[in-house]
Amino acid sequence: MEAGTNLIGGQPFSLENAMEVKKICAKHNLRTILDASLLADNLYFIKSREEQCKNMSIREITAKLSECFDIIYFSARKISSARGGGICIRNEEDFLKMRELVTLYEGFLTYGGMSIKEIEAMTVGFEDTMDETVISQGPMFIEEGVRLLLKNNIPVVTPAGGLGIHVNCSKFVPHIPQAEYPSGAVAAALFIISGIRGMERGTMSEDRHQNGDEKLADMELLRLAVPRRVFTLSHIKYAVDRLMWLYENRDLIGGLRFTDEPKMLRFFFGRLEPIGDWQEKLVEKFKEDFRGSL
Ligand SMILES: *Cc1c(COP(=O)(O)O)cnc(C)c1O
Repeated sequence: MEAGTNLIGGQPFSLENAMEVKKICAKHNLRTILDASLLADNLYFIKSREEQCKNMSIREITAKLSECFDIIYFSARKISSARGGGICIRNEEDFLKMRELVTLYEGFLTYGGMSIKEIEAMTVGFEDTMDETVISQGPMFIEEGVRLLLKNNIPVVTPAGGLGIHVNCSKFVPHIPQAEYPSGAVAAALFIISGIRGMERGTMSEDRHQNGDEKLADMELLRLAVPRRVFTLSHIKYAVDRLMWLYENRDLIGGLRFTDEPKMLRFFFGRLEPIGDWQEKLVEKFKEDFRGSL
């Protein structure tokens, strides 16, 4: 299970979900594994939405949730503001199996892949994650951003989740076919007119079918992630303001095509170009509307 699922708008699962999954897996002798990288947001949602957790502390919820999993892994970049990550293993047999892989991929177990300094920073980050006033900030900013976007009729995933604001690009630019990467196009357009760097979460993030055809994504989203401890509310308002302008001028946005499309992780490593000269027209209109005011 992935706490706060990336590809569906950062939506959380409940403690009750996790307990049910654990029950089913135990019955069929299956291991349960948690990707806890984005757990902070999910903990906040469990605490604020789930009846049985209203009177539990974040620490108690974390402990209860942990009981549902045999293995918990995380990117420390996300959950504890440190460099690195970790794999927590309950069962010794699993540990011994993974120990061999550590030697293969990182070095002998006692070399220590991460420095003590980094592990100390991770510990502080975990303590912060147990503080509701810390972990509530991202979801609250996202909720406010989503509220403002909805007020202005801009299509966005609801209810507001964790991780970021997710703009629904199938509705933002319905004139762009999926094979021309509408979410990627909106990401490029928004960057040009605002400097805001969003992330395509749509067809470009899929791998092609084996025969080379595009695998069209179920959802075309632009993710505007809200990193921890970085943003203020005025950043969110700026993003909303620019999205409003872009939405008014959405007909100017056109498609993209790959000029360099690697087989693996094309959404990270690939290069694209606009189809036609829509980017120039967009900039022209932007300058016309804002002139020298920027
Ligand atoms: C970012 C992320 C990862 C990968 O993290 P790295 O620090 O790049 O290894 C894994 N799972 C989830 C849910 C993530 O958001």
